[in-house]
Amino acid sequence: MIENDLQNLPQWRDADMVLVGIGEDMQYDWSALTEDQRFQEIEKEIGGDEERIWIIPFLQKMVLSQKRSDRWSLAYERLRDVLAEKNYYIVSLCMDDKIFDAGIRKERIVTPCGGFRRMQCDNNCSHVLSEVPEQSCSDVLRYYRKEMPIESLKEPVCPVCGGRLRFNQLGVARYAEEGYLERWNDYMKWLQGTVNRKVFLLELGVGMEYPTVIRFPFEKIAAYNQKAFLCRVHASLCQIGEPAAGRGMPVRTDPVDFLCGCAR
Ligand SMILES: [Zn+2]
Repeated sequence: MIENDLQNLPQWRDADMVLVGIGEDMQYDWSALTEDQRFQEIEKEIGGDEERIWIIPFLQKMVLSQKRSDRWSLAYERLRDVLAEKNYYIVSLCMDDKIFDAGIRKERIVTPCGGFRRMQCDNNCSHVLSEVPEQSCSDVLRYYRKEMPIESLKEPVCPVCGGRLRFNQLGVARYAEEGYLERWNDYMKWLQGTVNRKVFLLELGVGMEYPTVIRFPFEKIAAYNQKAFLCRVHASLCQIGEPAAGRGMPVRTDPVDFLCGCAR
């Protein structure tokens, strides 16, 4: 583990506001699942069966709900601690919802790629999100524990059109942006309040997958706001181009390691 001096940076100490961008490189790697023997058996049993593939994300949700303490949990707890005294907003591209377990204020987090908290119709026929059916969760858990055969599992369906019900995540046939738009509007309002303020931009593992969501806008803020400071943490893509370069600090390291190395 590396130690870092984030809290000792004068730009951090003086910052009125902190904007955090969390990118694809902080996404949970699912190794807790993929290295699990029972999961490997299940993958074989499902094979390429289109009618059963829905079980996999429910198993992912099961792993997330077990709240194991891993490097991501520690990283998000450190993030919570360093932000405790700050006026912050967090934009995250991660779809694993790990951030929601750390006790960070939920009304200050927007996750435009969605997650496992709610479900939607695959076709977004009604623009309405629904709760995750507990029956499906418990059935999948029972199947995982070999208490129920795969034949007894029923895929949850949309109550309106009978189509597939899926987790509200980027990657479904028609992504329901309704899942994050309210938060996004809050974020836009919060951003307006950063004008001419000392804002510290902390980018964690944001690469080039969706650069228009975090990377480019953060660079723009650093370029235009003379009091802004951009700290870009990335294992490889940490360089900061002109004209934001004068108000930025590249940190070439893994973002999870970086957070774990923040002092308590
Ligand atoms: Zn539907």
